Amino acid sequence: MMDFTGKTALVTGGSRGIGRAVCLELAKGGAGVALCYAGNEAAALETVRAVEDLGAKALAVRCDVAEAAQVDRLVKAVLEAFGRIDILVNNAGITRDNLILRMSEADFDAVTAANLKGAFLCMKAVSRLMLKQRCGRIVNLSSVVGLRGNAGQVNYAASKAGIIGMTKSLAKELASRGVTVNAVAPGFIETDMTAALSESARAAIQGSIPMNRLGAPEDVARAVAFLASGEAAYITGQVLAVDGGMAV
Ligand code: NAP
Repeated sequence: MMDFTGKTALVTGGSRGIGRAVCLELAKGGAGVALCYAGNEAAALETVRAVEDLGAKALAVRCDVAEAAQVDRLVKAVLEAFGRIDILVNNAGITRDNLILRMSEADFDAVTAANLKGAFLCMKAVSRLMLKQRCGRIVNLSSVVGLRGNAGQVNYAASKAGIIGMTKSLAKELASRGVTVNAVAPGFIETDMTAALSESARAAIQGSIPMNRLGAPEDVARAVAFLASGEAAYITGQVLAVDGGMAV
């Protein structure tokens, strides 16, 4: 387990799935955890309770990460409650899948706004603080789809490949001040996002994973926690695949 005593983490999309697992993994190490969510307040409060049960301080804020004013309010609320932000995990994300001929402009815009612009706005909002602190950790959620592409996910793949470009660029901007920026690229993980897959699609996906199983949110959360920890101080601009060997 990593030691996050005295640290504050902001996890976007912490109400469910991978985001919730990240909140719990960081809390286990002693971090105070602020999370935001899009609309599912009940799930967000469940994460808050689970973090508090681990003895850590928690705060949930409703915030659409695609809206700059809401992100500014989120960061202000976290600073009021915790006084600092040491770790940012850009995890909030959505899918609106379709083949390109049927993909609407609105679905392209919605996915890139939540997944890519949202991460940009959050990184912009915390960068000044982290530069002043001369330390900080940013971990962005990309995807195997951002590395390899996937039919039916032109919008999602664009957002997740874009995350990689932003991660490497910001890593170069912030490196000299002790702030690291890395990405994790999960394969197929058992969450609400993948729950809609048909049995046949699931079997086909499983067959393409060398480890022959879908991942658990905790598999990803442990990798995020490592990159957010002091142990990863000399690692920046990297993309860590957590996919059972899928992208090899
Ligand atoms: P999930 O279970 O669908 O949860 C998505 C989370 O993001 C929820 O907390 C949701 O809040 C929040 N969210 C969505 N849009 C938001 C917005 N505009 N502003 C703020 N919060 C927003 O997703 P997941 O499977 O855990 O995925 C988490 C991340 O990992 C995503 O970036 C996803 O692309 C990436 N990923 C997932 C997989 C996978 O197989 N599951 C694979 C690769 C990468 P509400 O609860 O309020 O809706």
